[in-house]
Amino acid sequence: VKKYDVVIIGAGTAGLSARKEVRKHTENYLVVDDGILGTTCARVGCMPSKVLIQVANDFYRREKFPTMGIQGGEHLQIDPKAVFQHVRQLRDRFTGGVLRSMENWQKTHFKAKRATFMDANTLDLGDEKVQADKIIIATGSRPIMPRAWAPFKKYFLDTDTFFEQEVLPQKIAVIGLGVIGLELGQALHRLGFEVTGIGKGKAIGGLTDPFMQNYTCDKFSKEMNVSFDGVDEVSEKNGQLALKTQQGEVLADKVLLAMGRRPNIDNLGIENLGVVLNPQGIPEFDNNTFQVGNLPVFIAGDVNGVRPILHEASDEGHIAGYNAMQSSPQCFRRRVSLAITFSYPNIATIGKTYQQLTDEKIEFDLGEVSFEGQGRSIVKMTEKGHLRVYGEKGTGKILGAELFGPDGEHLAHLIAWAISLNLTAGEVVRLPFYHPVVEEGLRTAMRKLASKSPAASSPLEVLRCGDVPVEDRD
Ligand SMILES: Cc1cc2nc3c(=O)[nH]c(=O)nc-3n(C[C@H](O)[C@H](O)[C@H](O)COP(=O)(O)OP(=O)(O)OC[C@H]3O[C@@H](n4cnc5c(N)ncnc54)[C@H](O)[C@@H]3O)c2cc1C
Repeated sequence: VKKYDVVIIGAGTAGLSARKEVRKHTENYLVVDDGILGTTCARVGCMPSKVLIQVANDFYRREKFPTMGIQGGEHLQIDPKAVFQHVRQLRDRFTGGVLRSMENWQKTHFKAKRATFMDANTLDLGDEKVQADKIIIATGSRPIMPRAWAPFKKYFLDTDTFFEQEVLPQKIAVIGLGVIGLELGQALHRLGFEVTGIGKGKAIGGLTDPFMQNYTCDKFSKEMNVSFDGVDEVSEKNGQLALKTQQGEVLADKVLLAMGRRPNIDNLGIENLGVVLNPQGIPEFDNNTFQVGNLPVFIAGDVNGVRPILHEASDEGHIAGYNAMQSSPQCFRRRVSLAITFSYPNIATIGKTYQQLTDEKIEFDLGEVSFEGQGRSIVKMTEKGHLRVYGEKGTGKILGAELFGPDGEHLAHLIAWAISLNLTAGEVVRLPFYHPVVEEGLRTAMRKLASKSPAASSPLEVLRCGDVPVEDRD
C-alpha cells in the first residue's frame, strides 16, 4: 500500500488551493479526482454563467435605445448557437488556465480515480488502496434533481449540461429562483426565450428581509414570468413537460433545474470515519480549522455545505491544506460574508442578513435608499432597486445589508469592506463620494443610519477640524 503525507480528494478550487499549501512542506502528496478537470467554477459555474449574462444584458439594452434616440435597435438579433459557442470559447479559456496550472505536477502527483474512505487514514481508489497521514475532502457539490422526476429526465437540463447545448427550444421553464435560477433564467429571458421561472417562496437570490423580498419579486414579475409557489406536479403532455403550479399549468420544451446543489459527501464512505453526521450526511467539523472531529481529516469547499461560493472554497482549501501540515490545527478567521446574484439589477447580502439579526435577537437600526430617482441611476436608465443597511443600535456600527440595485456587485463590496473594518455609518459618511455616482445612494442609506445614533453629526459637522468652539455650542 502506497503511503502519502497528504491525499486531497477533488481537484476543484478548494482542492487546488489546499495543494498549494501542502506542497510548501512536502512532495509526498496525491490529488485524486475522477471527474472532468478544470473546476466547477470555470467549467460549469461562475464563469460561463457570467459570459451568458453579459451577452443577454448587452442585447436587452436595445429596449432602451429608442428613448435614448438610438434607432434601429429592433433589427438586432440573437443567434443562440453563436451565443453558446461564444460562452464555450471563453469557458475553454478559463478552464485552460486551470489545466495549464496543473501541468507541472499532474503526471507525478495526480490520479484520475474516485476515492472512498476505508478509515481515517486509508482510501480505496478502486484498483488500489492508499494510506495518508492526512486526508482533505474537497469533493464539491452537484445539482439536485428530485428522484420522483427521474422518468422525465429527457426534459431536464442542469448546470452540468446547460452550457453544452447547441440549440435550445423556445419554451423553457426554470425551477428554482435561487442565485443560479435567477441568473440563468433572466439571461435566457433577455436573450428572447419564452421563460417561466418557478420558485418556492419569495426568498429569491438569498434575500431575507421581507421588504426586500417583496420589492425584488415585484420587479422581477414585471420583467418576466415568475411564480413563487413551487411546482406541485410534473407530467408529460404532447411532447412537452407540464408543470402544475398553484396558478395553473406551465408547458415547457425544456426545464432548467436550479433547485440547489447537494454536497458530494454520499458515496465517499464517510460512515467509515465513525464521526457524527448531520442530517445532510456532513461530518461535524470546525469552521475555523476545517478539521473533521479529532481526525486527521479536513473538509473544504462546497462539500461542507456552509458557504458554497468560490472565494470561500479557495480560503477553506488554503486553511485545510495549511492545517494538514501542522501538528495541531490552527484557527483562521472567516471573512465577512458576501454573496452576490448577478441578476440585473444585482442582488446581494452582506454581513449579517435581516434573518440572522432577527434570529439572534440583535437590535438594529435601519438606513435605506431607493434607487428610483437616484441621480446616476437615472442617467444610466437603471432606475430600479433598493438598499437596506442594518447598524448596531446606538452606535451605527454596520452589521449587514441586503440590496437589489444598479452596480450592486460594487456597492456590496464597499459595504463588506466597511463591515470588515468595523466602521460605523458615521465613519463611512466621512469618506469621499464623487458626484454623480451610484455610490451616492449608498451614502444616503449610511447618512440615514448614522442619523439614528445619538452621536449623529450633520453632513458639515463630519468635516470639522477639531471641536466645536465653546461660543458656538448650544
Ligand atoms: C452555475 C453556477 C454559477 C456559479 N456562480 C458563482 C459565482 O458567480 N460566484 C461564486 O463565488 N460562486 C459561484 N458558483 C459556486 C462555485 O462554483 C463553487 O462554490 C465552487 O466551484 C466550489 O469549489 P469546490 O472546490 O468546492 O468544488 P469543485 O470545483 O466542484 O471541485 C470538486 C471536485 O471533486 C471531484 N470529486 C467529487 N467526488 C469525488 C470522489 N469521490 N473522488 C474523487 N474526486 C471527486 C469532482 O470531480 C470535482 O472536480 C456557481 C456555481 C454554479 C453551478
